[in-house]
Amino acid sequence: MTDHPSDLTEGMTGTGVTVAVDGDRIQRASNRFNEQLRVARLAGEHVWVATVAHRVDDPTAAVAGQLHLDAESIVYAGVGCFICETPYEPRMLTRRCKGEPR
Ligand SMILES: [Zn+2]
Repeated sequence: MTDHPSDLTEGMTGTGVTVAVDGDRIQRASNRFNEQLRVARLAGEHVWVATVAHRVDDPTAAVAGQLHLDAESIVYAGVGCFICETPYEPRMLTRRCKGEPR
């Protein structure tokens, strides 16, 4: 798991990429992801996600649904299973997902 911005250098494939995130885009992505989660839960498969935190300078824009994120605003990145909430380790590749934590 990467827990410091300076550790991100090797993993970044480009810089200066700006992604506009609006309500419609988030809703479409959420719908697709929910279907992927449903299938993975039935199969007992982990669903790997990268959690990336961006520093937000203007929270009023963020709550208004207009948020611009880029590589320079990243402050944290980590990989783990969305379902069982376990940080990635190589041995997890051979183990079934145990589902949501209890
Ligand atoms: Zn899992």
